[in-house]
Amino acid sequence: MSSNLARTQAIHTISQRSPMDLGKTDPLSKIWACDVFNLARMEECLSKNAFKAMKKTFQTGAPLDPATADVVAAAMKEWAMSKGAKFFSHIFYPMTNATAEKHDGFIITSPEGNAITDFSGSLLIKGEPDGSSFPNGSIRATNSARGYTAWDPTSPAYIMHTANGATLMIPCVFLSWTGEALDKKIPLLRSNAAMNSAAQRVLKLMGETDVATLNSSCGAEQEYFLIDEAFATARPDILLSGRSLFGAPPAKGQQFDDHYFGAIPERVQVYMQDIEDKLYRLGIPAKTHHNEVAPGQFEIAPYFEAANIAADHQQLLMTIMKTTAKAHGFLCMLHEKPFAGVNGSGKHVNWSVGNSTQGNLLDPGNTPEDNLHFLAFCGAVIRGVHQFGPLLRAVIASASNDHRLGANEAPPAILSVYLGDQLEKVFQDIKDGKILKTDKGGKMDLGLSQILHFDRDPGDRNRTSPFAFTGNRFEFRAVGSSQSVSGPLIAMNTMLADSLNWIADKLEAELNAGKDVASATLAVLKTLMEQHGNAVFGGNGYSPEWHKAAVEERGLKNLPTSADALPELLSPEVAGLFERTGVLTPAELHSRFEVYAEQYINSIDVEAKLMVNMATTMIYPAAVTYLSELSATAANLQELGITLDNAVAQNVAAEANALMVAVGKLSEARAKHDFDGAQDHMRFLADTVRGLMTEVRAHADTLETLIADEMWPLPKYSEMLFIK
Ligand code: ADP
Ligand code: MG
Repeated sequence: MSSNLARTQAIHTISQRSPMDLGKTDPLSKIWACDVFNLARMEECLSKNAFKAMKKTFQTGAPLDPATADVVAAAMKEWAMSKGAKFFSHIFYPMTNATAEKHDGFIITSPEGNAITDFSGSLLIKGEPDGSSFPNGSIRATNSARGYTAWDPTSPAYIMHTANGATLMIPCVFLSWTGEALDKKIPLLRSNAAMNSAAQRVLKLMGETDVATLNSSCGAEQEYFLIDEAFATARPDILLSGRSLFGAPPAKGQQFDDHYFGAIPERVQVYMQDIEDKLYRLGIPAKTHHNEVAPGQFEIAPYFEAANIAADHQQLLMTIMKTTAKAHGFLCMLHEKPFAGVNGSGKHVNWSVGNSTQGNLLDPGNTPEDNLHFLAFCGAVIRGVHQFGPLLRAVIASASNDHRLGANEAPPAILSVYLGDQLEKVFQDIKDGKILKTDKGGKMDLGLSQILHFDRDPGDRNRTSPFAFTGNRFEFRAVGSSQSVSGPLIAMNTMLADSLNWIADKLEAELNAGKDVASATLAVLKTLMEQHGNAVFGGNGYSPEWHKAAVEERGLKNLPTSADALPELLSPEVAGLFERTGVLTPAELHSRFEVYAEQYINSIDVEAKLMVNMATTMIYPAAVTYLSELSATAANLQELGITLDNAVAQNVAAEANALMVAVGKLSEARAKHDFDGAQDHMRFLADTVRGLMTEVRAHADTLETLIADEMWPLPKYSEMLFIK
């Protein structure tokens, strides 16, 4: 059998592909949120009182009484069964980036043997999946498996359809028998509550009397790659680790920028439309889609929503993207760096906080210097990034995101905040003790009469900043494409809560000393900028000068790898932050470090093992087969009196030998087990194993450029990256 059969078959399969025929799609008005048990649906089927109670809980997080839960459960069951559901599932979000679900039937049997259905408030409120195999970071001993899921009434239940049925999905939190958080939702809800109470304090001190509950919001821009599924089946690395561990750069990559924002290939556009229809049915407001920088790379961005709902929707979106891809003959890759040499994928997390009485508190309006609320909240963010930059770095740390951060395609591993020219000047003036009128953006005049004039934004954008102010929100740009947005949202809400409390304490003192609100606020912000202004940076975050100045002059931390970043979760500053805001206890925080460290260790170990395997059983054999063919041909030619130069064979043999030497070193490194804890193990992987993997790959990629194309076993970058 030819050693590249799988690759040849894949190429053949792909040449037959055409866009999937989806038939006629229904109008938005017909499908929007049709599978969601949202407030509109509840208003239709709940009693007035039950609806009022649910609405209050939904909007403010107020507790719900058990009697109402019973009424809601009955209505939810009726609605779900009318949609064909026979099962319900408590869906939850463990500390990994995954989603977890356990399904139970509505069915019970009567003493007469009839099937009846049952779904009470208590079944809605509490579930008990064993779940003992979820990583819990030592919170539960192996022998004590009890964990609970509990209904989160602030995130609407919905129906998931398969070709053959439907399931009622109920978003839940996941906690241990001892009441500790084992998931990403509990701390997200707590961080939102902490932010709300700190914000209430500040706004009330600033003279506001009517302050509605504040909520954080999130709009996430999801980048991803699509490759043909047929190629993926011929690449064990992509199937098992989510990225290509081998692959020589193609002659053409992203250098022409011809893919970025280009016409979307039809097969892909049909896929996007299919996803979006599914999202609309689930009430997920998909809004933007386009080609991204790398060939084969795309982006989808829903419109922003309340952070808790956006986080659940993000998880669902990733699931739907992956499952829908299959039907279209694609593999959807959410890995941060699936292909070396072209851009990786991130997930910009746009975030702001606001309420119905004061509006978006990160919206400066036209004259930010006059907008005291905005200045206080924006100042609080600046302090947060400065004080807790290492935490922000830690919550985006993963083996896969390490490939992007610090490379010249993604924000650096040093956390700073970009404000834009106008705002930076406002805060500089506050620091200098003066408050001047700043330049307005002015009109943007293109000199073209047919193009309407529009207001220029007060600052340009900065693509090199990890944390940028973008008009009415902050955009955390260093988050990885496969990550849950909850980690970053928890960190941002919590640091904001802490900073707002810091501001409130100082504001109180200034007001007690007799200052008016404006001068008190500016005095507090002056101190804030003196202590924390070092985090503000508007220059080029990729430049080596910044890397040096950030650390040496500004005292910011450069944490290039997860081995550097994750231990920051154990620092007294971070533990203190989470404890005083009530978001995570020290035990809960510690368990998170353990889970993330374990994930880092496991993912690098899986990759290293795969590399050893593939190099030994696929790449080395291809080299040997090629050598044997060359030598047979050379011998035959010799008989005809023709001498074939042996330089190519020499080269292939040298690379093949070097490959196996490198593989030997990598295997040896993998066998090391005497580590002094997780931190020591992570250090070894970051400093030694990753380097050895690069070495193995370099030899394999050189072999790819030397060996006859028909003998190469793995689909090549040039084949995978350009969608037919
Ligand atoms: P860009 O690529 O220019 O950054 P996109 O339109 O792709 O912009 O994405 C911007 C994201 O920010 C969208 O999800 C949008 O809904 C979201 N967004 C807009 N305003 C806010 C806000 N106040 N809070 C949170 N997210 C917001
Ligand atoms: Mg963006």
